[in-house]
Amino acid sequence: MVKMTVLASGSRGNSTVVSSSRTRILVDVGLSCREIFKRMAAAGEDPRTLDAILITHEHQDHVQGLAVTARKLGIPVYFTEPTHRAWIRWMTPQKKMTYADWLAARKAAAQAGAAPANPEIEDREAFEEEREELAAVSQAKPGPEKDPCALPAVEYFSAGDGFCVGDISVTPFTIPHDAADPVGFVFEAEGVRIGLATDLGYMPPNAKRHLKRCDVLMLESNHDLDMLRDGPYPWSVKQRVMSRMGHLSNLAAAEFLETEYDGGAAYVVLAHLSENNNLPELARVSAERALRDRASLLTNELLLATQDHPLESILL
Ligand SMILES: [Zn+2]
Ligand SMILES: [Zn+2]
Repeated sequence: MVKMTVLASGSRGNSTVVSSSRTRILVDVGLSCREIFKRMAAAGEDPRTLDAILITHEHQDHVQGLAVTARKLGIPVYFTEPTHRAWIRWMTPQKKMTYADWLAARKAAAQAGAAPANPEIEDREAFEEEREELAAVSQAKPGPEKDPCALPAVEYFSAGDGFCVGDISVTPFTIPHDAADPVGFVFEAEGVRIGLATDLGYMPPNAKRHLKRCDVLMLESNHDLDMLRDGPYPWSVKQRVMSRMGHLSNLAAAEFLETEYDGGAAYVVLAHLSENNNLPELARVSAERALRDRASLLTNELLLATQDHPLESILL
């Protein structure tokens, strides 16, 4: 049996478990290790049975708990090489700062009323928790463990080149997004095909091609264009989100579902919904309208992934 459990989806953290009868993969670790384990337990998944971690790109909402989770489980992490390098760059400046320094800097920034560096990341609690865990690890274990970037094993893949993790075949494909080398994934096991495409500014031809014949299609439906235009973000951030290297709008997702998508998935999961610039009902109605001619009893059941709770597992 093939199973997919979205543990979290949105700009405060993304993580999904994809498993066959024999192999279990964690796709992105955008929550603290503690929260990942908690949500896996709530969804009836045992973290200790995970075989590998796969990373789509180095943005914080996809890697926040990566180092701690990989080390705790002792499992390999699959990246593209540019994404691994970008992740190390993201981690390294913090290495030179003590936790106390970091807290003090953060407090000063809050007092000055400064916005967080990435306005998409508003909730820093999980991040603090992660820093505590990292600090504890580096104090407790001398030697290579002091390196916050240390991972049990790193495996490189390239977009367009398929590989296998256990009996799950994985096809990474390039997506247009403002990260070093971002990818979407198609997973195949036991005759079931799962496509994951979030964090993309638009739907390019290669992504459309890879997302054909999926049994489960997880697709970004990030923002409502009017809410984004009228919303609280600074104009530069609005431009970034709307750009061809940003995020897929409800409208763009609906356009894809209506015109290019083959209509064959049992489940369509709308994902990475913005909490500031979208409403679940807007995303749902937009996708429902796009899929109305595809409605049948057996296909296109629409689900909405959320930020704060795992989505009920999809079994195929
Ligand atoms: Zn993201
Ligand atoms: Zn991103």
